[in-house]
Amino acid sequence: MAERLRIVQKYGGTSVGSPDRIRAVAARIKRSYDQGHQIAVVSSAMSGETNRLIALAKDISPNPLPRELDSLVSTGEQVACALVAMALADIGVPAVSLLGHQIRIQTDSSFGRARIRSIDVSRIEQAFAERQVAIVAGFQGVDENLNITTLGRGGSDTSGVALAAALKADVCEILTDVTGVYTTDPRVCPDARKLDRISYDEMLELASLGAKVLQIRSVEIAKRYQVPVHVRSSFDDSEGTWVVPEEKKMEEILVSGVAFERDQAKVTLEGVPDSPGLAASIFVPLSEAGIVIDMIVQNVGVEGRTDLTFTVPQGDLAATKTICERIVSGIGARGVKASPNVAKVSVVGLGMRNHAGVAARMFEVLAQEGINIKMISTSEIKISVIVDADKVDQAVRALHSAFLGPNARSLESPQGA
Ligand code: ASP
Ligand code: MG
Repeated sequence: MAERLRIVQKYGGTSVGSPDRIRAVAARIKRSYDQGHQIAVVSSAMSGETNRLIALAKDISPNPLPRELDSLVSTGEQVACALVAMALADIGVPAVSLLGHQIRIQTDSSFGRARIRSIDVSRIEQAFAERQVAIVAGFQGVDENLNITTLGRGGSDTSGVALAAALKADVCEILTDVTGVYTTDPRVCPDARKLDRISYDEMLELASLGAKVLQIRSVEIAKRYQVPVHVRSSFDDSEGTWVVPEEKKMEEILVSGVAFERDQAKVTLEGVPDSPGLAASIFVPLSEAGIVIDMIVQNVGVEGRTDLTFTVPQGDLAATKTICERIVSGIGARGVKASPNVAKVSVVGLGMRNHAGVAARMFEVLAQEGINIKMISTSEIKISVIVDADKVDQAVRALHSAFLGPNARSLESPQGA
């Protein structure tokens, strides 16, 4: 008999998006269950439901109370879980649905973006002991005062991986409407291909640089607790992409993926006095306003003044400008300039650690395309550039073909070799 595994299966909104889909999910769970595995399922809300609930809240109140908003939007997952449990019962699989507070998915109290602190798995262990499938509501938790919290959009991924960590599961399957993690978005680049394996660190970079497959936090947890994650389609049985600890041969691949993020804006504060504390006086008020700054570049100072450029999500540009204009007069800078339509394009790969020349090659490719680079930032395993918004698709296709296409030319041997 095959090995008995402990499996967490997380189903996304499209996978439970209709009664037919829920029945299909139940049939899939039954197949694993019948093989003798212990199964805990984490479900998202049916697709569209979370958006519908948020819109409903906004219709009632322009500024819904965060606590009540979480109480409202968490209902989507409750509905989906109960329906999955019913569908399982109908095909003879004993199942029990469990909400965040019923198994104490304990979080902090940051409504709308709570972080999981602990999960009490005893109720699920009991279900396993009785050969039941546990169907756990994703996205939700409970704080120490028993307020319902939610984990941020896409948070069911995090529920799934955190539960897998708490249960010491053999795998966390992320069942979704795509067949895995791709080298880039196939809608932009038809040559994109599915990756068989990718390291936690690369996945972390890809997720934070714009790839939408997994919530970033879920990858952080997977890495911390070394949970093997298998991103795969819920519509068929094909192998997806394994997100796993780093393996030696992964370093041979220079670039694993090209990520991009549209709808960014670039802001420059001109003629900022070049003295200690100035950066703090700019970025502290922005962060207090909840604005997330991305890339920051400070020029070399000339005659005691410097330019400071950074990017923000386009939706935060108006607020950013208002705050910056106030700061500028306070600190005696010359002015604020903004480009509202830019985007970030990044290449990510473990192989960059040992190979010089990836950045040079990237800039060369963009130059050949006549694409102007407005900002650059690098880390050990990624290089990001800011380009004009209308050049993103072209940049992604050119970079994909240069680094990942059939004719990608490899760089010279590793540094120092
Ligand atoms: N239902 C939540 C959302 O739409 C959580 C999730 O699907 O992961 O963001
Ligand atoms: Mg998702």
